[in-house]
Amino acid sequence: MILSVASGKGGTGKTLVSTSLALCLKPGGNVQLLDCDVEEPNAHIFLKPTFARSETVFIPVPRVDEEKCTHCGKCAEVCVYHALAVLKERVLVFAELCHGCGACSYLCPEDAIAEEGREIGVVEIGNSKGIEFVHGKLNIGEAMAPPITRKVKEHIKPGKTTIIDVPPGTSCPVVESVRGSDFCLLVTEPTPFGLNDLALAVDMVRELGIPCGVVLNRAGVGDSGIEDYCLRERIPILLQIPLDIEIARLYSRGIPLVEGINGWQKTFLELFDGIEQLAPLGARQ
Ligand code: SF4
Ligand code: SF4
Repeated sequence: MILSVASGKGGTGKTLVSTSLALCLKPGGNVQLLDCDVEEPNAHIFLKPTFARSETVFIPVPRVDEEKCTHCGKCAEVCVYHALAVLKERVLVFAELCHGCGACSYLCPEDAIAEEGREIGVVEIGNSKGIEFVHGKLNIGEAMAPPITRKVKEHIKPGKTTIIDVPPGTSCPVVESVRGSDFCLLVTEPTPFGLNDLALAVDMVRELGIPCGVVLNRAGVGDSGIEDYCLRERIPILLQIPLDIEIARLYSRGIPLVEGINGWQKTFLELFDGIEQLAPLGARQ
């Protein structure tokens, strides 16, 4: 089963949930955790993996052969990201804007465009206490997270329970991370901001046709907006984590909840059972 753990907004406790889920399932020995929050990966802080290898991630950007180029302008016309500017005697390539789609080289009538790799980040693969761990890291200053997310997801192994820590929000990197999941757990908090961003995240997973359930973190503060919304939308609240100073202390020290406080291991196992009941039949282990 591929289970993504997402949140409409940052700081809701998504990584707390994904790492505790992975750890409580670990005795079966068939778990992977993929941290796709490539702009700010932090699951490794909790799982403290040992990395065995890394893979550099490149995207193909155009290199123009000025000998062949007739400066017809077709490449700049086709580039929706405005990564090319054709001057009278030169083609300028703005590599940081290029998405590596290949359209310019494909459509150049003079075959004047070749592609060369530009490094945008890295994927690291390792192990943490029996959990296969993979995360991606986008280089500082880069904007293109999805190619790294795709590289991380290439490590998904069918037959394993794969937990994906998704970046916050509902933008392209989030969609890329969640796509293909059997179930999406949405972590939120009982505030108007939490509700607003949860509703956006629900719209996204419904658009992708993925069943979802909610984890309500810091329960006991704020208002009942999340409960009312979930009732209205028929979305199950599968777990409530109370606002608790001890949980916050553990989090700030990088200690997973299931390892820091007795009883949470069982609670997370029950959460996983609940998810299995709601996931499509074929996804159940
Ligand atoms: S499409 Fe090809 S020939 Fe035309 S300007 Fe671009 S690189 Fe030059
Ligand atoms: S590869 Fe795509 S995004 Fe990059 S310059 Fe060419 S058309 Fe633009």
